Order: sequence, then C-alpha cells, then structure tokens
Amino acid sequence: MTLKSADPRDPPDIDFRYFDEDSDPDGQDLKSVVDGIKFVRKATRALYEKGIAKQELLPGDQVQSDEELMDFVRSQAWGHHASCTCPIGGEYDGGVVSSDFRVHGVKNLRVVDASVFPRIPGFFIVSSVYMIGEKAADVILNSRS
Ligand SMILES: Cc1cc2nc3c(=O)[nH]c(=O)nc-3n(C[C@H](O)[C@H](O)[C@H](O)COP(=O)(O)OP(=O)(O)OC[C@H]3O[C@@H](n4cnc5c(N)ncnc54)[C@H](O)[C@@H]3O)c2cc1C
Repeated sequence: MTLKSADPRDPPDIDFRYFDEDSDPDGQDLKSVVDGIKFVRKATRALYEKGIAKQELLPGDQVQSDEELMDFVRSQAWGHHASCTCPIGGEYDGGVVSSDFRVHGVKNLRVVDASVFPRIPGFFIVSSVYMIGEKAADVILNSRS
C-alpha cells in the first residue's frame, strides 16, 4: 500500500500482488484457480447440453485457452480478508502501532481495525476484528481513568 500524495483525502494505491508473490514462484496458485474453472466447466457441461443451464456468464465461452483463463484470473480474482498493513509491534521491529494502538511517532492517533494484526488470523478474520475492537475499547477507556 502506497500513499499517492500528501493529501489525506486521496485514496491510497493498494496493490494486493495476487499471484505475484515469492510464495507462488512456479505459478501453482494461479494454475490451481485455472484448474478449478476447468473442473467446474467439466462438471456443469451436462447442464448446458440438457438445456438446464443456459449460458456461462463468467469467464464466458469466449475465454478458453489456458493463457486466456490465466489472464481472467489475474485480473478478476480477489480476496476480502486484507489485514496487517499497520501491525502492532515495536517501532524498530517493523511495527506501526504500539500495544495500546497508538501510531508510533504520531500524537493522538490510534488505529483499530484489521490492519493491526501482526500476522494474518488463521481463519475468517471478522471475529478477530470484533475482538480487537473490544480490546481497544478497554485500553482506551482505561487510559482515561
Ligand atoms: C464481500 C466481503 C465479504 C466478507 N465476508 C466475510 C466473512 O464471511 N467472514 C469474515 O470473517 N470476514 C469477511 N469479510 C472481511 C471482513 O468484513 C473485513 O475483514 C472486516 O470488516 C474488516 O474490518 P475493518 O474494521 O478493518 O474495516 P471495515 O469493516 O471496512 O470498516 C472500515 C470503516 O471505516 C469507514 N470509513 C472509511 N473511510 C472513512 C472516512 N474517511 N471517514 C469515516 N469513516 C470511514 C467505512 O465506512 C467502514 O465503516 C468480508 C469482506 C467483504 C468485502
């Protein structure tokens, strides 16, 4: 995630780098999604032949070769559990916020959301987001007493 300008109203540039990370050097993730599309096409072929299903909407009949399918997946696949861009941690250890959610080096600014996890939660993340919100409410209320 990169700031586009010094104007805080400008949305940042967010690049998820799907299929572009060191963790997928041989393109296995990309190939797996393409294989998934082919599998579903095979499984549903009879539905089209029997007229039960009318037409594949996405990626659509015009997208057939492996290259075309890979292009489709690269441009359309997305995940919705983004997290960890402002991790809790020490200022000199790559942390952005302290354990009381204050942004290092900035006065009167706390961050409490999915960005503060030091590591990606192992499961769907929203329950962890609720928990970090509860924890932050306690920390903030206690700091006022
Ligand atoms: C389609 C979809 C499906 C999902 N399904 C699941 C699921 O099944 N299970 C699961 O665990 N997780 C799911 N997630 C992920 C989960 O919803 C998010 O990880 C979680 O909501 C992130 O919480 P957050 O508080 O970090 O951000 P958000 O929930 O995005 O909260 C950010 C808030 O800030 C507000 N905001 C933004 N800009 C400003 C501004 N300038 N001023 C004031 N307010 C502002 C927004 O309106 C929003 O209310 C899903 C996400 C998506 C998109």
